[in-house]
Amino acid sequence: MEQAINLYLQKRGFKAFTPKAVFFDMDGVLFDSMPYHAASWAQTCTSFGLEMDKTEAYMHEGRTGASTINILTRRHWGREATEQEIADIYAEKCRLFNACPEAPKMPGAQQVLEAVKQAALTIVVVTGSGQQSLLDRLNTNYPGFFTPELIVSSKDVKHGKPHPEPYLMALQRTGLHPWEAMVVENAPLGVRSATAAEIFTIAVNTGPLPESALLQEGADMLFPSMTALAESGLFAQLARHDA
Ligand code: MG
Repeated sequence: MEQAINLYLQKRGFKAFTPKAVFFDMDGVLFDSMPYHAASWAQTCTSFGLEMDKTEAYMHEGRTGASTINILTRRHWGREATEQEIADIYAEKCRLFNACPEAPKMPGAQQVLEAVKQAALTIVVVTGSGQQSLLDRLNTNYPGFFTPELIVSSKDVKHGKPHPEPYLMALQRTGLHPWEAMVVENAPLGVRSATAAEIFTIAVNTGPLPESALLQEGADMLFPSMTALAESGLFAQLARHDA
């Protein structure tokens, strides 16, 4: 960990790493929802004549629906999608996702949240999702960790990930500098967004992509699962003593 922090400080030109908050992505970090998202996308795309397999869906994770749809229509139809097409395709994707069983809590996430709370670090959720069913479940599934003003969702930002805006907004809401926060992300584009905001980024590889997909986006540390992150003792070592 010490080596990762030193590399981070060197790369960013910051003097000290003094974390006061942890920003959590939601899908693939707090909820094991990505298999359902990927399957819903793949099925939707097939029915609209836009081929996208599940692995590609994982590569686009974090993008807004409109951005993903435009990448596909440019590739298959040679043009941007119309607003109506975006609405229709995204509605079908949401319909299929909502017909899936309820996504389980990510194994290890509860323990990670407990360790972060124990370390007196502020907990923030920064998600590209506007999926109200999951946002509503944050408090019922993880009671006592989240406050409404510290949840940044797709409704709060103009640009979705991989743009840094969602993480910059989390810094703004907490009144922190980049070197005073940490991010936990599972998606390559989420890592790109967080590192573009110059925040120390912990990647957890909870999906099927190779580790290199997360490391080449600039992740500062990588764990194979949320359980491994919980067992690392990392947050206890970074506990805040001034709170
Ligand atoms: Mg995610």
